[in-house]
Amino acid sequence: MIKFLDLYKINQLHKKDLQDAFERVLESGWYIMGSELRNFEEKFCQYTGAKYTIGVANGLDALVLIIRAYKEMGIFKDGDEIIVPSNTYIASILAISANNLNPILVEPILETYNLDYRLIESRITEKTVAILPVHLYGQLCDMDKICEIGVKYGLKVIEDCAQSHGAKSPKGCSAGNFGDAAGFSFYPGKNLGALGDAGAITTNDANLAETISALLNYGSRVKYENIYKGVNSRLDELQASLLSVKLASLDNETELRRKVANRYLEEINNQKIILPIVDFQESHVWHLFVIRTENRTDLQQYLTNAGIQTVIHYPIPPHKQKAYEELNDLSLPISEKIHQEVISLPISQVMSDQEVSRVIEVVNNY
Ligand SMILES: *Cc1c(COP(=O)(O)O)cnc(C)c1O
Repeated sequence: MIKFLDLYKINQLHKKDLQDAFERVLESGWYIMGSELRNFEEKFCQYTGAKYTIGVANGLDALVLIIRAYKEMGIFKDGDEIIVPSNTYIASILAISANNLNPILVEPILETYNLDYRLIESRITEKTVAILPVHLYGQLCDMDKICEIGVKYGLKVIEDCAQSHGAKSPKGCSAGNFGDAAGFSFYPGKNLGALGDAGAITTNDANLAETISALLNYGSRVKYENIYKGVNSRLDELQASLLSVKLASLDNETELRRKVANRYLEEINNQKIILPIVDFQESHVWHLFVIRTENRTDLQQYLTNAGIQTVIHYPIPPHKQKAYEELNDLSLPISEKIHQEVISLPISQVMSDQEVSRVIEVVNNY
């Protein structure tokens, strides 16, 4: 069987270095807020080009804490609005509602699956405080256009980079360094994955970085002095040490993912399949290879029968979820179409040429 994602194989690539890192942390006797975290944060600053990286417990917390910090800083307040793509993974929207702000769902561009910047301005009201673009499936949004709108209306731009580690614009700017702040996830299945939960925030804003650092540690800068009603969302030493190991090979592994994607793009030629559109090679890091087809259930069953595992990202749009009953009546036809038609093919840095050939052959014979 061709697995959708083989995490075992992915981590076996780094077995020796991961074991060394584990040994180092075990022997150090220091497990929270130490040199491994500082080292990873520094490396991630170099990687993204951002001035500050703050490790946190997971990707959702990264987004929640950015918005929470802007509230503590007096920049956002309850009831304010944040513009977010309507076809994103639910976490981007949860981060807004968790802070008592309102998500304003804006449709994506059908061909790229990313937030349609042309629709943003008409949705801005007196309550709008931010735009939260999501580089979905690993492809950068049109950040020049989105940041331009942000500046024009005085809105914060908060990037959701959970799927886009290392994606670069033609000018060489990296995901996480376009807007005012960005949230990353290092969930095991993400392009940079820990061996458990982990996440990070990047920003160039010293005040924001300082506020977040306190919030994630019980709202405290000095031990036992609490300036905010904070949370515990720390990135531990062990995960930080493992992430440093994997960050060193991330760009090479992204190249391998790109090779798989480019073969799919060149060799899949079935009229029933709509392939994803790429603007610029380096702007896509192929977290997922998402195609569309009219009868997705049928295609998925056919691929399963042929021994090819697929996943749907995502089957139910956020505004149709029970958790968001207040949004259930919205009509978002592009998102609804996407959620009905998408299916993700296997892609990773450990797929063999034969496996890729097999997927192409089976898809073309559908
Ligand atoms: C994975 C993901 C998150 C949340 O990350 P976790 O580490 O699982 O909390 C947020 N946004 C998007 C787009 C994601 O794919």
